[in-house]
Amino acid sequence: MDKLLSGKKILIMGAANKRSIAWGCAQSMLDNGAELIFTYQNERLKKSLLRLVEDESRLVECDVSSDESIEKAFAQVAEKFGKVDGIVHAIAFAKKDELSGDIMNASREGYALAQNISAYSLIAVAKYGIKILNNPGSIVTLTYFGSERAIPNYNVMGVAKAALEANVRYLARDMAKYGVRVNAISAGAVKTLAVTGVKDHGDLLRLSRERTVDGESVTTDQIGGAASFLVSDLSTGVVGDVIYVDKGVHLI
Ligand code: NAD
Repeated sequence: MDKLLSGKKILIMGAANKRSIAWGCAQSMLDNGAELIFTYQNERLKKSLLRLVEDESRLVECDVSSDESIEKAFAQVAEKFGKVDGIVHAIAFAKKDELSGDIMNASREGYALAQNISAYSLIAVAKYGIKILNNPGSIVTLTYFGSERAIPNYNVMGVAKAALEANVRYLARDMAKYGVRVNAISAGAVKTLAVTGVKDHGDLLRLSRERTVDGESVTTDQIGGAASFLVSDLSTGVVGDVIYVDKGVHLI
C-alpha cells in the first residue's frame, strides 16, 4: 500500500546525531515511505551520522557557510540520485559567547556569523536547490519562538531566527514560479547539541517543558511528523508559513 511519502526523495540537512531534529524528520519520513539522502557539515559529523545511516553512498558533505560547497553537494546529489522532492534545512550556529548575557555585548562578527549560517544559508540552499528540486517541491526549515520573544541568552540566534522566518516568506513568494513551497516549523525546545550552546539551557528546556499543555516536552518525532506533512502533497496549500510544533508553549 502506498504511504504518504511513497515515491518522494527528500534531502535532509543537519542530522548530527540521534537527538537532532533533522533525525526526527528523517525517521518520520522513512516511516512514511520516503527515500532519504543526508548532508553532513564535516568529517567529524560524517562519523557521527554513519552510526545512524549505514549506506555511506547516501551521505554528501555540505558546509552551508560556502556557496561552493552547497553547489558541489547538490550537484553530487543530482548526479547520484536525480532530482529531489523536498529539502529539510535544520541548520543553525552561533558562537557560545554570543548565547549569554546582554545582547548589547553581541559582536559584529558573532552577529554576522549567526545570520550567515542560520538565516542566509536558507537563501543559498534555495538558490542551488532550484536546480535539484522537482516541480512540485518543498523546502522546510526549523525556527524557534526566540524570533518573537526575548528569550534569555538566545540573543543573536533569536535575531537570526526572525531573519530566517522573513526569508521563508520572501523565498515562498519567489520560489513559487518553480513550483517550490517554502515553510518553517517553529519547534518547541528539545535537548540537542545546538541547544547546549545556550547559557543556562537547562532552565530554557525546563521552562519550555512546564509551559506545554501537558507538561511534557515536544519530541523530535512530533516535529518530524509536521515536517513529513510539509513535504507531502497534503500541504500544497501551505505556503510561506511558520507552523508551531511546540505543544502550546507559544500560547502562554
Ligand atoms: P543539532 O545540533 O542536532 O543540529 C544542528 C545542525 O546544524 C548540525 O547537524 C550541524 O552540523 C549543522 N550545522 C551547523 N553549522 C553548519 C554549517 N556551517 N554547514 C552545515 N551544517 C551546519 O541541533 P537541532 O536542535 O536539531 O537543530 C536543528 C535546527 O532546529 C536548528 O535550526 C535549530 O535552531 C532548530 N531548532 C532547535 C530547537 C531546539 O530546541 N533544539 C528548537 C527550535 C528550532
